[in-house]
Amino acid sequence: MKKTSLLILLIFTLLFSLQCNSSNPNNSERPDFALVIHGGAGTILKKNMTDEQEKAYRDILEKALRTGEKILVDGGSSLDAVVEVITLMEDSPLFNAGKGAVFTHEGKNELDASLMNGSDLNVGAVAGVTRIKNPIQLTRRVMENSPHVLFARDGAEAFAATQGIDLVDPAYFHTEKRWKSLQKVLQKEAAEKSAYIKTSSDEQKFGTVGCLALDKNGDLAAGTSTGGMTNKRFGRVGDSPIIGAGTYANNQTCAVSATGHGEYFIRNMVAYDISAMMEYKNLSVEQAAAKAIAKVGAMKATGGVIALDKNGNIAMPFNTEGMYRGYIVAGENPVVKIYKDN
Ligand code: ASP
Repeated sequence: MKKTSLLILLIFTLLFSLQCNSSNPNNSERPDFALVIHGGAGTILKKNMTDEQEKAYRDILEKALRTGEKILVDGGSSLDAVVEVITLMEDSPLFNAGKGAVFTHEGKNELDASLMNGSDLNVGAVAGVTRIKNPIQLTRRVMENSPHVLFARDGAEAFAATQGIDLVDPAYFHTEKRWKSLQKVLQKEAAEKSAYIKTSSDEQKFGTVGCLALDKNGDLAAGTSTGGMTNKRFGRVGDSPIIGAGTYANNQTCAVSATGHGEYFIRNMVAYDISAMMEYKNLSVEQAAAKAIAKVGAMKATGGVIALDKNGNIAMPFNTEGMYRGYIVAGENPVVKIYKDN
């Protein structure tokens, strides 16, 4: 009798494990971890870049990937990796986020960022902050230490002060390169007499940063940080702090971060659209991401996305000349690309 029950138990266990494998055939293919980054899309052409400039971008992108890799190898969460990697990119003057943020019409720097956790769909975002050195760190406090999801301007900074986050003098964000870009756009605006809200993507170079991670537990996270668009006014906010537009993460589907002409990424709800196409239409991450960028392109808008699915598959489509981007998958070397092919 005892032997029979043992046999039945064995058969049930075997059947159950077979069932689990067949309901998720990709499960065994999921890498231990994966991390994807972007540093903005746009008119990024080899002929406009010196070797030193190109090397500086490739070096910082690789450093960002290695930073994320270390966290994930050590068993850190996808959220930890995303926040740490974006912090590093915000501290670099090369990107339009944190230190290298572009200027508003009035000559200020107003920063936007968001963060999403794929396991519980929790989010944190900030918009229009002027004194936060690392907006991505503030998004995590919004997510974890407040019942809300998005804080704006002075209010976000008052909340930051309650969280022990350092406020910096707005002068910290002044870089000559971005200042000159604003002057150029202002001169063009004056010449064209087109006074009303002519924003510019810094001569069609979007420099927003984004990071996606899949950790050892299979949890996805996504984050995006930006200075927005050069010459923006009237408290303009783009897609980067808008969950579903510039950022999205859901363990059932994928994680996404966008860069490009934000208004169109909001109108198309690009980041959520990719997840929805995977969930409701069963598209692969490559198919869904390509479709979402095609929709933006159909409106004559430019930009790109990075997307990482729950099994570690990666898509990085863009409709501009280039996009600073890279990824690292457990057990493999990091890959960094700038132009169409390399
Ligand atoms: N998407 C950002 C915005 O519209 C700009 C960028 O990607 O650089 O604010």
